[in-house]
Amino acid sequence: MLKTLASLIRNATGDDMQNTFDLVIIGSGPAGRRAAIQAAKLDKRVLVIEKFPRVGGVSVHSGTIPSKTLRETVLNLSGWRERGFYGRTYKVKNNITVDDLKHRLSQTLNHEVDVLEHQFSRNGVTLEKGHARFVSRNEIEVSGPSGQKTTYTFKSALISVGTKPYRPDNIPFDGTHILDSDEILSIEALPRSLTVIGAGVIGMEYATIFSALDISVTVIEPRAHILSFIDDELIAEFTHELRDRGIKLRLGCRAERVTREDRHCFVDLSDGRRVKSEMVLYAAGRVGASADLGLETIGLSPDSRGRLKTDPASFETEASGVYAAGDIIGFPSLASTSMEQGRIAVCHAFDLINPPKPEHFPYGIYSVPEISTIGYTERELREKRIPYESGVARLRETSRGHIMGLQRGMLKMLFHLETQKILGVHIVGEGATELIHIGQAALVLDGTLSYFIDNVFNYPTLAEAYKIAALDAWNRIALHAPVVAEPAESAELSIVNG
Ligand SMILES: Cc1cc2nc3c(=O)[nH]c(=O)nc-3n(C[C@H](O)[C@H](O)[C@H](O)COP(=O)(O)OP(=O)(O)OC[C@H]3O[C@@H](n4cnc5c(N)ncnc54)[C@H](O)[C@@H]3O)c2cc1C
Repeated sequence: MLKTLASLIRNATGDDMQNTFDLVIIGSGPAGRRAAIQAAKLDKRVLVIEKFPRVGGVSVHSGTIPSKTLRETVLNLSGWRERGFYGRTYKVKNNITVDDLKHRLSQTLNHEVDVLEHQFSRNGVTLEKGHARFVSRNEIEVSGPSGQKTTYTFKSALISVGTKPYRPDNIPFDGTHILDSDEILSIEALPRSLTVIGAGVIGMEYATIFSALDISVTVIEPRAHILSFIDDELIAEFTHELRDRGIKLRLGCRAERVTREDRHCFVDLSDGRRVKSEMVLYAAGRVGASADLGLETIGLSPDSRGRLKTDPASFETEASGVYAAGDIIGFPSLASTSMEQGRIAVCHAFDLINPPKPEHFPYGIYSVPEISTIGYTERELREKRIPYESGVARLRETSRGHIMGLQRGMLKMLFHLETQKILGVHIVGEGATELIHIGQAALVLDGTLSYFIDNVFNYPTLAEAYKIAALDAWNRIALHAPVVAEPAESAELSIVNG
């Protein structure tokens, strides 16, 4: 009898232990995933709760990875990268179908999920499938797929539930022709024409990807400019290319009404115009997935777009010990920054001292052509009255650019006029999202113009554009201060540079 009682007590304590975690994470997207691994590396007991049947979040299932896989497939099958040499009608595969595009998508997603699940199990992270809700300041209830409920106790929690597409009432979404940015991945046939409502990052990525398939694309945006956080000169170059390709930009007007008649959709614009296409993609914003999380029980209330406020240094919310990271806290809403926020939150929760966050992070837009940027734009420098000079290189000025048949694309660097420190790097064109990291390293390490002039670059590379841009800036800075000694290469490369 005594033995049974003892084992009962031990089991009860064991169960309690089993349901008690140092850190509970809601959501297995980039923020939750990175936070979980960081906490596991600190030997903490970690539980990740995910309501979707597979781990990975929006990033793996409907955002970053699917859209980038689609982009890569489109560029490969359409022969896009070779058209500089073989002409606009060149294609690797004629009659590209949705099945061609989906084939690569499912393989990539399965691989990403495998890697993630393995990472969790290797690091001893417990994974629970179900919908999580706070029931008290240190308890969370999970409703599993078959309705069973389990309560877990935690010391710290991270809310990394991400966002979902914004679906306003005046848009008659039908899942086949009038779609949001999650649904666009499940279309059954490619349209001959597409209207994209919203010229933000997601809208521009899909607009340019579909246009690369020779689908006629119209973009509608209420603001007068697209991607206004990007350097103006880059956007001018980008929009010039889009117009040249026949993408129609309807800027400064709203989509007031969307209707569908037989095979066609019609979008009535606030300026009286009407756009006709076979398909409409509504990509004007996302809202935080904070509903039904029981946030009121821990004293938190999201803003009108469902987003949570956190301390910018630690990502702790107003509820002590409860953190939020990733898209649920708003800008910049990137997988890359979400991961870092998750990691920083965990370090703060477990008193690990972190170096201060870098002042600048890179932004990658995987449109066709791609755009990437870090640091200040010219507009910001003028607003801050920081004296600067710019240096510009065209990718076609590099030998690698010639070999690749690149006719477009530019790299611009901004330098402090007096110290010659790098203040910003802005790239549009092939390889921009990779090339940016050279500029990022130099910028974050307080590099100056001379780094690019004095160091040897592999030849032929697109990275040589940095050297050309630096020499261009040097030539311009020399005009302000004519006594500066001329770098050895300047005479030669400035000829290339025009
Ligand atoms: C089309 C598109 C393209 C993008 N492209 C890029 C890109 O190229 N580069 C880039 O850096 N970023 C990109 N992003 C942004 C990127 O996907 C997000 O920044 C990133 O996914 C945010 O990560 P997260 O951790 O905040 O959450 P998410 O990835 O949104 O994941 C949140 C998870 O929480 C789960 N969840 C929600 N509520 C609950 C609950 N109550 N209980 C349990 N689980 C719950 C959800 O099921 C989901 O799995 C793109 C986004 C979209 C939509």
